[in-house]
Amino acid sequence: MRLAVQILVILVLGFFLVVFLPWWSVAVAAFAGGLTLLAVAACGSSSTGAASGGAGEGGRPKVLAAFYPLEWVTQRVGGSDVELSTLTSPGVEPHDLELTPRQIAEIEQADLIVYLKGVQPAVDEAVAEHAADRSFDVAAAVTTLPAAEADPHEHEEEGHGEEEGHEEVDYDPHLWLDPSRFATVATKLGDRLAEADAAHADGFRSRAAATAKELTDLDKEMSDGLADCARRTVVTSHAAFGYLADRYKLKQVGISGIDPESEPSPARLAEVAKVAKAEKVTTIFTEELVNPKVAEVLATEVGAKTAVLNPIESRPATGDYLSATRENLAHLRTALGCS
Ligand SMILES: [Zn+2]
Repeated sequence: MRLAVQILVILVLGFFLVVFLPWWSVAVAAFAGGLTLLAVAACGSSSTGAASGGAGEGGRPKVLAAFYPLEWVTQRVGGSDVELSTLTSPGVEPHDLELTPRQIAEIEQADLIVYLKGVQPAVDEAVAEHAADRSFDVAAAVTTLPAAEADPHEHEEEGHGEEEGHEEVDYDPHLWLDPSRFATVATKLGDRLAEADAAHADGFRSRAAATAKELTDLDKEMSDGLADCARRTVVTSHAAFGYLADRYKLKQVGISGIDPESEPSPARLAEVAKVAKAEKVTTIFTEELVNPKVAEVLATEVGAKTAVLNPIESRPATGDYLSATRENLAHLRTALGCS
């Protein structure tokens, strides 16, 4: 029966080719066009059926990452099976992000938002309001550490410092700076994406496993590189390195607290200078997106130099999360005299 139909089609096509010779190209084109349409329809129905909510272009889930390290891990795990965009442009300090009405609309339409509660109050609020059921909170994927010891004087300004009544979290949000925790994030993100788009579950899970492996290897490199050092105290611009310090048994002294824009009080500066002298600190660390002036003044006062320690909150000028972490390792090894 099938064969008969095929033979019939071939005969009819042959007839067209022979009888309407000037039109043969049109007939072939129409036939090929029909096949393409059939293929597209088949593809579309298999993936849009599985995606949750409004699927993106070509049936791929639309995924929004809040800022760079989350973009990096989502890109690794999602691969070409997601349509990925990022809320924080490169070079923007993510803690300060304000959302445009267009970005709020993007949050409303996304299939999944990958964010980290406690880093960006504007994103936290928009997710709670518009996308609570379509969000993946990276902080909920791992065990968090309590908020880093911040400047106790900062809270004197609380009356006018607090805007729009956003709730502050009581943990340190900079967890991507511990590659072992970030490996757990990769694995759980793979599971979450598999849930959102079951048709591509195998791809999400295998890329998540490969990413977790890369991060576990990086963790090993860090712990080996920082195992045997002359000093273990790290003075940084803002207290972003609590997880790194905890994981590799270093002691972080942040000049300002979790928020890099908060000005340290003179009392805090004096306290940090005292610790830096007592611990024979050779290097005061600054970061690219924060004005280094305070760190420079402090370095002069305690007879240290300055070097960059990247909190990797924004996309590095060159390389990626992995290479930026390795640069941090090299700078730490020099500052701490590691062998
Ligand atoms: Zn930060």
